[in-house]
Amino acid sequence: MQVDWNRIKNVLRQNAFDESLHPRDPKGESTGGQFTAKGGETMDDKKKIIYDAADRFNFPRDKVVFEDQRNVSGDGYEIAAVFRKSTGEIIIYKGAMDQESDQLGGIIAHEVNHAKMDNGTIAMAIREVIGEPVSDQDTVWGSLRRLDGVTPYSTMMWKLADDDKSFRENIAVRETLAEVARLNYLKRLNEVDPVWQDIFSEANRRVMR
Ligand SMILES: [Zn+2]
Repeated sequence: MQVDWNRIKNVLRQNAFDESLHPRDPKGESTGGQFTAKGGETMDDKKKIIYDAADRFNFPRDKVVFEDQRNVSGDGYEIAAVFRKSTGEIIIYKGAMDQESDQLGGIIAHEVNHAKMDNGTIAMAIREVIGEPVSDQDTVWGSLRRLDGVTPYSTMMWKLADDDKSFRENIAVRETLAEVARLNYLKRLNEVDPVWQDIFSEANRRVMR
């Protein structure tokens, strides 16, 4: 699929503050777009999975909002869910409900991570793990860039960030950590580079304090 990086970047930049938009699964990929559930699950079953995952993170159920519509960017990226900072809500779009049940909790894990880790917490965790001042950005961010993005989605964010430092700081790091949270929920943390695992652990410790 031809991807218009600049267009995606502009969409993300406009919404960087409350992250009200971000793409997740390119249509046509195994986890995106099409309805691939094994069958037998009703919408209520899926909502229960999502609420149970929210409970596990102590995220209030009444802040989980289901939108009975799709959210598809002009590039064909279907947006499964977003965290809306201004209201503290996680918005679940129809595209998420088309995904396999075992992916739904991971979507919540990703969005809850946005809710609980602010940029300051993330920056301190990176400094702790990488061991250099955060102000020395070229070195720190360059090190993270070399690790690439953990999942195809966050790798895309790093590609977008290559020519735009502010974008890199605001989006790529945050999205990578949210993807680590998703993989952690899915018991796939072993797939994540140890440096990102350490940053994730350290940021969580700081959130818990
Ligand atoms: Zn995200």
